Amino acid sequence: MNLDALKSDLAGVALEDNPRIVQQKSRDFYWYSPVLKRQLENVTADLVAAPTSEDELLFILGACFRNNVPVTVRGSGTGNYGQAMPLAGGLVLDLARMNKVKHIGQGYVVAEPGAILADIDNETRASGQELRLSPSTYHTASIGGFVAGGSGGVGSIRWGGLRDTGNIIRLRIAAMDGSAPSVIDLSGADLAKASHAYGTTGVITEVEMPLAPAYDWVDMLVSFPTLRGAATCAEQLAGADGLLLKNLSVVDMWVTPYFRRHAPYVRDGEALMMVMAAPFAASDVAHMARRAGGTLTMRSDQLAEDVRRTLPAAFELGWNHTTLRALRVDPAITYLQSLYPQPSIADKVIKLAERFGEEMPTHLEFVRFDGAVGCFGLPLVRYTTEERLEEIIRIHEDEGCPIFNPHRYTLEEGGMKQTDEVQLAFKRRADPKGLLNPGKMVAWDNPSYDYGKPYLFPTLSA
Ligand code: FAD
Repeated sequence: MNLDALKSDLAGVALEDNPRIVQQKSRDFYWYSPVLKRQLENVTADLVAAPTSEDELLFILGACFRNNVPVTVRGSGTGNYGQAMPLAGGLVLDLARMNKVKHIGQGYVVAEPGAILADIDNETRASGQELRLSPSTYHTASIGGFVAGGSGGVGSIRWGGLRDTGNIIRLRIAAMDGSAPSVIDLSGADLAKASHAYGTTGVITEVEMPLAPAYDWVDMLVSFPTLRGAATCAEQLAGADGLLLKNLSVVDMWVTPYFRRHAPYVRDGEALMMVMAAPFAASDVAHMARRAGGTLTMRSDQLAEDVRRTLPAAFELGWNHTTLRALRVDPAITYLQSLYPQPSIADKVIKLAERFGEEMPTHLEFVRFDGAVGCFGLPLVRYTTEERLEEIIRIHEDEGCPIFNPHRYTLEEGGMKQTDEVQLAFKRRADPKGLLNPGKMVAWDNPSYDYGKPYLFPTLSA
């Protein structure tokens, strides 16, 4: 890597090299994991560049290619797995200033990668439309970062995940393949080359995403005497085909004390179901919840306006915001990501909840999964040791509940521990020198790696 030559090639481009600011821009929410916190604490880039246009971005990429400088792309840095952390140093490409919404049509929006999800919706709402899917970091995350690093979230109960065909329409990618980098449009099956690739196969410079009709979603909280009652009711709601929901979460009684702003609406010792429903569906949700033994404790459209304004949205109690709320109270807490496969979701949930008790408070997110009701777990874990965390993971896997390990920074280990041949083949073409976000794709570094032990990128072991 020749940083001096890079700086001289980039004369005229604003570069940040203040070590404190560079380190800030080299971090994401990796600290959710005590394992990643230990491994990645000292990771930092050498420089940050924040292009304002695709032309400027291509110019910077070309100069980095010539001078063998690694490039790690950054949207808003809200990812959880050290995804946006530059393990080999080099340049952080901060896309926050490429944030324009370029075009809104019937059913789709075209935007620059750094556009914040809530800002995109603010513009599309004028035509009665909104993004189908967003993470619970809706107010801070970028659309490029969501596509490159996220998986789904709010909206997944209706639309499934980002991996599902149709939830991304087109991506424009800048490759790192020469002094004058090529630009490639991907659509259809080719989207898998760059979506959820952590920016290892190209830089997304434009996205085209599908839109759905926008509603004034109603937040509803329903308290249940038992976790089984809440999980069973949620599964029924998730399977009710005519009910228009945007989000559906359940947490066990140990989690609700962390929802401090919602304290008046939770009951001690009870599980809680959190629902985002279309206004015309709210009464049906309330009816079904009552029939299942639940008590409606809050309905946002029935709160006084001044009370409603002080409460975070219900989706900010769900997904990884549940973990965030717990971490604010107890910094020793961490979490896992699991799947409770069909059939008998509630039985699997209860079996694991009873086995771990207070050590692992249950948190469920219901989604549409391959055309059926699916249920992800983001259980809180009262962390003791890495060995115990591994043991908890093993017990889930033995029970037939796969874990998507949030304590790993590589694509493979956070997923199914398999090489993604499509992404690997595309990386050979789009990033022949392996300069894009080094260390995140194990298959690139070591094609025959044995996933029996955690992968450690050489700079980290040093
Ligand atoms: P960053 O963190 O900046 O980047 C994420 C990854 O994408 C990195 O590898 C980065 O290098 C790469 N990248 C960024 N921009 C580009 C680009 N233009 N081209 C190529 N690569 C790029 N995630 C979910 O999926 N669902 C959730 O519900 C959810 N909830 C969360 C709640 C909390 C409290 C937190 C802290 C995180 C949550 N996340 C969730 C994770 C994260 O917020 C989202 O995935 C978010 O969309 C990431 O966007 P970002 O702009 O912050 O991306």
